[in-house]
Amino acid sequence: MQHPEFPNLTVLDHPLIQHKLTILRDRRTATRDFKLLVSEIATLMAYEATKDLPLEPVEIETPLERMRGAQVAGKKLTLVPILRAGLGMVDGIAALIPSARVGHIGLYRDHDTLNPVDYYFKIPAGEQDRAFFVLDPMLATGGSAVAATAALQRAGARRIRFLCLVAAPEGVRNMLAHHPEVSLYAAALDRGLDARGYILPGLGDAGDRLFGTGRQ
Ligand code: URA
Repeated sequence: MQHPEFPNLTVLDHPLIQHKLTILRDRRTATRDFKLLVSEIATLMAYEATKDLPLEPVEIETPLERMRGAQVAGKKLTLVPILRAGLGMVDGIAALIPSARVGHIGLYRDHDTLNPVDYYFKIPAGEQDRAFFVLDPMLATGGSAVAATAALQRAGARRIRFLCLVAAPEGVRNMLAHHPEVSLYAAALDRGLDARGYILPGLGDAGDRLFGTGRQ
């Protein structure tokens, strides 16, 4: 459902997504289950976020006769996880779209300017007309999402969607201001950010919970 306040945001309110997200948010959910749930939610989100992909006709032969089927038009999709938490969403989407290519973007925040800078950027060469799905479980201030989108656009990408599990209004607004052409898909739009930039109520540090690097 497109969000009434944010024309760039679709909140995916499928009951299975909401059920799994609630378990994910729970502080008692262990790393192993957290990883599995992120992957499962990503699969369900990808199903929803691809439902308007254009189709083209294709002639095939069934065991009985020729027929005109349909296939997704254009080049293969490219998934672009933002390191490191975005990695947790890749396998779940690839389970649904096994032919998807995978690029990677690594960002850090410059201490002086506070701007995100990409320290790693690799996408399939010469394939800018593909559809790109940028992946990051948390859209908090939106700094990384804005920078990742700008980096992809500098590389020539034009068709970009952004998939996150939890979004904050601040991040959605930031993306709307800088990249209104990018459709955002989220499992939830939360209340806001705390002083350290964590989403409230959120689910904590997605990277730490995925990789078990937080305080146990
Ligand atoms: N990144 C996270 O992992 N969690 C937040 O709440 C915000 C940014």
